Parts: sequence; C-alpha cells; structure tokens
Amino acid sequence: MTIAEIADMIKTKLYPQFDANEIRAITLQLLCHFWKIPDIDFYINKQKNLDEKIDEDFSKALKLLQQHTPIQYVLGFTEFYGLKFSVDKNVLIPRPETEELVNLIITENKDAKTIIDIGTGSGCIAVVLAKNIENAKIYALDISEKAIAKARQNAENNNVCIEFFCKDILSENNFIQTKFDCIVSNPPYVRECEKSEIKQNVLDFEPHSALFVPDDDALKFYKVIADFAISHLADNGKIYVEINENLAMETQNLFVQKGFKFIELHKDLNSKNRMLKIKRQ
Ligand code: GLN
Repeated sequence: MTIAEIADMIKTKLYPQFDANEIRAITLQLLCHFWKIPDIDFYINKQKNLDEKIDEDFSKALKLLQQHTPIQYVLGFTEFYGLKFSVDKNVLIPRPETEELVNLIITENKDAKTIIDIGTGSGCIAVVLAKNIENAKIYALDISEKAIAKARQNAENNNVCIEFFCKDILSENNFIQTKFDCIVSNPPYVRECEKSEIKQNVLDFEPHSALFVPDDDALKFYKVIADFAISHLADNGKIYVEINENLAMETQNLFVQKGFKFIELHKDLNSKNRMLKIKRQ
C-alpha cells in the first residue's frame, strides 16, 4: 500500500468524527509511529510503498481513536517543549499554555540553583526545566504514585536528574527544608461549575484529580502553595503558577493577602489570563 492509500483508509475510519485538519495531523503521527516514515515522505512522497502488513497495534490505535481516546494516550507519548514524554491515563496531557509558563521560567531564571515543581504529573515542567537551566537542582512532587512513576520514567528517558517526592501538598508542607529560587506549579484549577466547558475527550480520559477543584474552594492549591512559599521561598525567589483565566483577580488577591507584594499577570497565546509570577517584594 502507498502512503496515499493508507491515508485514505485512515480517513474512511475517522471522518466525520474528526475534521480534515485533525485527520491530517493524526495520519502523520500514525504513519511516523507505525511505519517509521520521515515526516517529509508524508508531504512529498505519497506514492511511496509501505509494508503491507498492518500492525495489530495500528488497528487497535484506530479503534481507540474512534472511541475518542486522545492521540497522546493512544500512542503513549507526546512532545512538550521539544522533548518527548511518555503519557498515560494517570497523567494530564501537557498543554501548550504550560509550554508558555515553562518558557517564561527558563528565560528569567538561567541562574536558579533550586527549583521545585508542585503537582508534577508527567514531569513535563520539571524535566524541561532540568534540561534548560543548567545548574539547577530540581525537585518535584505529586500525590499520585502512578504519576511519580511516569515522571521518573520521563526524567530518565530525557537524561535528567530530578528528586521526586510522593506527597500531598494539601496536608504536608514541611517535608523538605530547602529554600527555593523558584516554586513552580500547574495545579488543578478547573471548577466543577466549569465542567460543561471542558471537551468530552478531556472529561472522559484525563485524570479528574489533576483538573478539578470544588466550586467553594477553587483556590485551595494556591493557598497551600503560598503557605509553602512563605517558609520555603529564597529571599529573592519567585513563584510561577498557571491559573484559571476566570479567577485571575481572586488568585492575585490570595497571594497579596498572604503577604506577597510583587505580582505580575501574564496572558497565554489565546490572550487568556494564564500565569502569575510572584515575589515577596
Ligand atoms: N488547562 C487545562 C485544561 O483546560 C487545565 C489544567 C489544570 O487544571 N491545571 O484542560
């Protein structure tokens, strides 16, 4: 079968569930993954013949896609800030807006020596920081043992050394005595009342514990992050957090009430209020 014929076959299975652009992107990923073709063949060598034998895993992948499983979970990996990350249903799929958060941290903290990532999930933030901030010692924690196992695997695959803790930041904030130059977090921040705005494939497949917070205590993670920072942030240290765009004012106020005097709000690529940088002064 040629690349073009395989692409047509994929289209018959996935249209109209996915639109033409989505199918193109999915097809490219499936061809690269299962037939190991270089990207360029997909664009300019569509008549190239590929192995007839269709992998059992490939048919399984198409089935999972038809059942709305995100492609990242189907293939078992994704890319984040130019690195490859193994992902499964125990960890959130890294988002583009988190790449922006990480980019801001890297740009502003080339000399950081100690950094902690609270609620690390797949480890994407911690691993990218370890790769890009040369002399920093990176720590990361998560409440989920399965997430920590995934994050460890991702640190190993990307050849970085990170110290991991399986801890619940809501109940323990004194498990380490280090002072940090940066405290970083993308905690759960979607309110239950906002569930209706979340896409079905996110709701059905991604871990709710990494996404949702109760309507009446939506900032609970920011409260404990602020408390952790009060005792663990170095004098000139900075906090970087991803936030719910609908709670930007409330989240800023929380840090002000906790005694932090410098707060900077950043928008994401979609112009949504998405990140806070916080310092003591
Ligand atoms: N930005 C994610 C989403 O909209 C939420 C991430 C989070 O809760 N930290 O699905």
